[in-house]
Amino acid sequence: MTAADAYTELIRRAKELGVLNSCAAVLGWDHQTYMPAKGVALRGEQMAFLASLSHQKFTDPKNGELLATVEASEMVSDPVSDSAANVREIRRSYDRATKIPQALVEELARVTTQAQQVWEQAKKKNDYPIYRPFLEQIVKLKRDEAAAVGYKDHPYNALIEEYEPGTTVAELKTLFAGLTAELAPLVRKIVGAPKQPDKSVLEREFPADRQKVFAEAAAVAVGFDFGAGRLDTTAHPFCSGFGPGDCRITTRYNPRFFNEAFFGVLHETGHAMYEQNLPAEHFGTPLGVACSFGIHESQSRLWENQVGRGRPFWDHFYPRLKQTFHAALADVSKEAFYFAINDVRPSLIRVEADEATYNLHIALRFELELSLLSGDLTTGDLPGAWNDRFEALFGLKVPDDARGCLQDIHWSFGGIGYFPTYTLGNLYAAQLMDAVRREFGSGLEDDFRAGDFSRLKGWLTQHIHRHGQRYRAGELCRLATGMPLSPKPFVSYLTEKFGALYDVC
Ligand code: ZN
Repeated sequence: MTAADAYTELIRRAKELGVLNSCAAVLGWDHQTYMPAKGVALRGEQMAFLASLSHQKFTDPKNGELLATVEASEMVSDPVSDSAANVREIRRSYDRATKIPQALVEELARVTTQAQQVWEQAKKKNDYPIYRPFLEQIVKLKRDEAAAVGYKDHPYNALIEEYEPGTTVAELKTLFAGLTAELAPLVRKIVGAPKQPDKSVLEREFPADRQKVFAEAAAVAVGFDFGAGRLDTTAHPFCSGFGPGDCRITTRYNPRFFNEAFFGVLHETGHAMYEQNLPAEHFGTPLGVACSFGIHESQSRLWENQVGRGRPFWDHFYPRLKQTFHAALADVSKEAFYFAINDVRPSLIRVEADEATYNLHIALRFELELSLLSGDLTTGDLPGAWNDRFEALFGLKVPDDARGCLQDIHWSFGGIGYFPTYTLGNLYAAQLMDAVRREFGSGLEDDFRAGDFSRLKGWLTQHIHRHGQRYRAGELCRLATGMPLSPKPFVSYLTEKFGALYDVC
């Protein structure tokens, strides 16, 4: 078989798997949204069947042979050609899928399914001891996974590879050290500032049906295509891109708090516009898939925070918001509202954190994950280590484990290595916006004030979305912004924005 024929067959198989996996995605979305409660057992069988079929097809040794044939040819000599990029990423996933023994995959699935249920109970009852043995097993199994996949320097490198290929512990340590050194003093200054927002204006009556209409209008304005997507309601918001022409987002409405649904919708819209603007002709292959978790998160954070929590955005939307919620906002000026949505204060819960303190939550988790995995920290000592480090970073005492080390679901599903991608997302978002501002100047803010976000969306499609996985995240960032990833644009953005708002710095 010639290399060209092998490549054609490899891509045909990848696209077939893309279709199969998109069927599972539809079922997963339906499970979270409209499936009746009694459908859960059948849905479990359907999902398990599709997952095993997909795994079987993907790990077929024939795929290994096809990869080897193409890899031995000139088709991979230009590393950013379609064929080289596709082969590089299919190889990475194929190796991962075939190196991890089937018994370990099954054990991880079994333990994490149980662990998620136990975690929910443990969090509800503030009972870390019932969860601890499950976390213990998960850490052990993730170490086994790292050993099976292989790594340099630290087992964590093998785990982060699943979310952010090409990123290393060493790079992350440098990023977090630089970031923490800058953020901690900034947050202290903000907390000590005499000028503070009145965030209670966001906790008035915001009827859910009107929130929905308003959030949908904002999603359309920034560029979400409702002809190729939907917005529904779920307990836990998410974005699921099935493939070309169909991307679903969800949110939840709190009639007594404006931020939750609105900024949640902007966040998921950012994810969705990435999915909607991936190159359709490459669907099913790496060139049609988002670059990494960190880059995906950069798109959501960019629209949620850099745009949606910015002044020009509300110059445009505030009059309409006030009309929509006239009872709640009659006595609230645009400036008071803008200050309230940018309230900064150290708090216990990561998902409720503001832009300035958010990454400190991640720094904490990253440090603890590294120590758990290396064995320097035992699961028995985790709550104490969490609380000590939390107090050092935030100046707050953690009152209980439910609001401490039990607050996140991630470890219970085995997602060790996932957290840093949130911070990478924030840093990439700031660096991308910095590049966009340099290119368009003040005209960009004029666009936003006029409710026009098309130039920004176009830039992101041009520099990020259309590339799929052609480049690794670090290289994509360098190409789009002219610089390797650095915490500097993010720190300058925060210092400028919050310095002005709080009259500090
Ligand atoms: Zn997200």
